[in-house]
Amino acid sequence: MDILESQPNSTMPEPSDSSQGPPKKRGVPEGLWLKCPGCGTSVYKKEVEQRLNVCPKCEHHFYVSAADRITQVVDEGTFEAMYEHLQPTDPLEFSDRKRYAERLVGEQKRTGLSDAAITGVGMIRARRVALAVTDSAFIMGSMGSVVGERLARLIEHATAQNLPLIIISASGGGARMHEGILSLMQMAKVSAALARYDSAGGLFISVLTNPTMGGVAASFASLGDLVFAEPKALIGFAGPRTIKATIGIELPEGFQTSEFLLEHGYIDRIVPRKHLKTEIARAIDYCGK
Ligand SMILES: [Zn+2]
Repeated sequence: MDILESQPNSTMPEPSDSSQGPPKKRGVPEGLWLKCPGCGTSVYKKEVEQRLNVCPKCEHHFYVSAADRITQVVDEGTFEAMYEHLQPTDPLEFSDRKRYAERLVGEQKRTGLSDAAITGVGMIRARRVALAVTDSAFIMGSMGSVVGERLARLIEHATAQNLPLIIISASGGGARMHEGILSLMQMAKVSAALARYDSAGGLFISVLTNPTMGGVAASFASLGDLVFAEPKALIGFAGPRTIKATIGIELPEGFQTSEFLLEHGYIDRIVPRKHLKTEIARAIDYCGK
């Protein structure tokens, strides 16, 4: 990963526009209808929303914000956010197409999030859990210092309180290159916290959603005792074009999808969104937590 990580684009999505939020709906006016990227048909937006943002025709799983995800999986009114006081800064005074400090303010305004992860505690079908969700709308859900620190503290809290830990990843951006080495070290820090949690007997369920890439996929997201993935999610390290440019090999079609990864033993189960809450609760019970 060293070679790949040293290229600024390697942990960024392709094309690497970090200001890009959820996928734009091209060719269909904003409002009542959505064009489904899965089946290409126009679907009634309200109906999609009622089905947890899943296409009624083809079961394509649309983007879900971190806040909506929490609403979907946590028992109503039980979620308490933690570590919101940790706010991102621009320690390297980094600039690409715009200054990172400005980008942060813009992303915060646009998404209503302070950074790309929400962490806290709540109940899932009356089972108390520590929960983190990353949001691909905030600089592609990438992990900078704040995401890493919130996760590490949550894992330490779960260790101390003996809580099952659920992390739902939607991070196309991997490690956040705007913070350089400070973002890369979050991979080690969060992984170390998970190792201590594991030694203490904790149960970590990692849920991979579209997309989970780069330094996020290469650290905590792959370290679950159980790894679930949503159908047809893009999961991998570098994007196919980066790999091709680096090693000059054409890779099999669909090699970074949930289905391919299940077939090759990288994940444990594909769980459609409508079953996620139930399946997390069931796994907690099976594992006696
Ligand atoms: Zn569809």
